[in-house]
Amino acid sequence: MNAVLNLYLAPKSGKSPIPSDAAIEGCLSYLRDRGIIGPEISPSEYSAGPTAARIFHPDAENYYVPAELTFESLTVQTVKKVTFLPEAQDLHEFHSVTCPICEDDMDVSAFKDALNRIVYFPVDAVLYDCPSCQSEMTFRELSFGQNVAFARFWFHLEGVAFGRLQTQFVDAMAKQLGFSLIVVPEVIDDQADAWASPPGFR
Ligand SMILES: [Zn+2]
Repeated sequence: MNAVLNLYLAPKSGKSPIPSDAAIEGCLSYLRDRGIIGPEISPSEYSAGPTAARIFHPDAENYYVPAELTFESLTVQTVKKVTFLPEAQDLHEFHSVTCPICEDDMDVSAFKDALNRIVYFPVDAVLYDCPSCQSEMTFRELSFGQNVAFARFWFHLEGVAFGRLQTQFVDAMAKQLGFSLIVVPEVIDDQADAWASPPGFR
């Protein structure tokens, strides 16, 4: 199975802050000055720069040479509605979504239903009644088995070579923005694309 790995850099805080334009520009200058990003390829989307490798955790050097350590693009995203990240990951790619009280698994259909509801309702109005322990909680309070975020602003790194980022890099971006950041992985199974392509064309 082929999978593409993306990363989100999103606010850690549940308040889903949006930085000022000046703070975002500060981040972009930081990235540009260090050669991490190159030219803008579409609005708010940047290509990887010649030294993109420096954003990755030093452990990556055990698996890749610097030239392979890159990403396809970095996009700055601001949205009106609090959004669950990873936004595009298939639900089956989550290792487990569990009740934080009894640790029983949330049913995939209940997970899907909650994700549909947070599109239309305030995120804290989306509740989950655990059928195992009868506890009521907000969707946000569940354990997702991986880093997730409820955000209105994020950086999306598409097609990353390695899933861990350098702590100093994440901290430097957080300092520019004025709030802590969390790295949220997103696994996209490209099997669907494989089926769409006729045999022999890949
Ligand atoms: Zn429970």
